[in-house]
Amino acid sequence: MVETRSGSVLDHWLTQLVCPLDHAPLTRAADGTWQCTSCAFTAPLVTVNDRQVYDFRALNIPQTVQLEFCIPVQPLDRYEVVRTMFRAPAEATKQPPVNVAIKTKLDPGSQHYLRTLYEQHGPNLRILDLGCGSGDNRKFLNAIGFTNVIGVDWSAKGADILVDAHRLPFAAGTFDVVVSTAVFEHLYNPFLAMHNIARVSTPRAWFVGGASFWEAWHGSSYFHFTPDGWQTLLNQNGYQLQDLWTGWGVIPAALAHVFTPGHFRKFGYGLQRLVEGVFRLWGGDAGVRKLQLRASGAYIVFAARTQSNGVT
Ligand SMILES: [Zn+2]
Repeated sequence: MVETRSGSVLDHWLTQLVCPLDHAPLTRAADGTWQCTSCAFTAPLVTVNDRQVYDFRALNIPQTVQLEFCIPVQPLDRYEVVRTMFRAPAEATKQPPVNVAIKTKLDPGSQHYLRTLYEQHGPNLRILDLGCGSGDNRKFLNAIGFTNVIGVDWSAKGADILVDAHRLPFAAGTFDVVVSTAVFEHLYNPFLAMHNIARVSTPRAWFVGGASFWEAWHGSSYFHFTPDGWQTLLNQNGYQLQDLWTGWGVIPAALAHVFTPGHFRKFGYGLQRLVEGVFRLWGGDAGVRKLQLRASGAYIVFAARTQSNGVT
């Protein structure tokens, strides 16, 4: 199946947008810009890679915001994580492959949970791809049957609109699912961004996201993610961690990051498999999970806003 997106889908989303500063309604001005009905914000059309998109980043308007944070924080129990999480990669192998030729940076575990959400809730879930990059996640989501998908980014050729993840231009309760792949390490205040995600999500919403643990310096990255980091970020915003697993291993990530040539990465995947094989001989799957908890290239999570929303 080819991508089913059309202009009318984007037109629909544009009518749903609010001011990113004060969440007041917007109005379409005669010059085509979107303007706030209560403050000085306007969203102009800007050009990204020869495409014109609306810019909701409000680059010219500084803003001070306040965040609530609940103390104390409870860390994850390592043995519970090893026992109950890391389910996604194994579950993904039980599903038949998606029968479309699409490139996606979504790992098999994230694909598994998104396909399960589709099977359980149908095609109409409203999905935000936060930090969509070239738009490949949307192609995957469309390919498995979802139709209400909007892709946003700070600046990327696949973005439907440009946004700042720290002040999203969506009304409360707009989305059922937020997907965010390899984005959160690039956000200078992840708690503020997750607060925004929770605000624009429905009370029953889900979050599928992953962020880098390694690669300290790549394309302006600020905070890199550990399992406890994800857990705290999610819990502070009303999400329950349902599953946690790893992306690429720490060995290929380290080799690819330190030694730029691509063939080191390939060598790294093999070495990672070898090391995990040794840990498996020694401690079974739990041994591999303990190794993966100590270090990985990236950690990926699936979370639900209420405990009863878990899917398996
Ligand atoms: Zn405003």
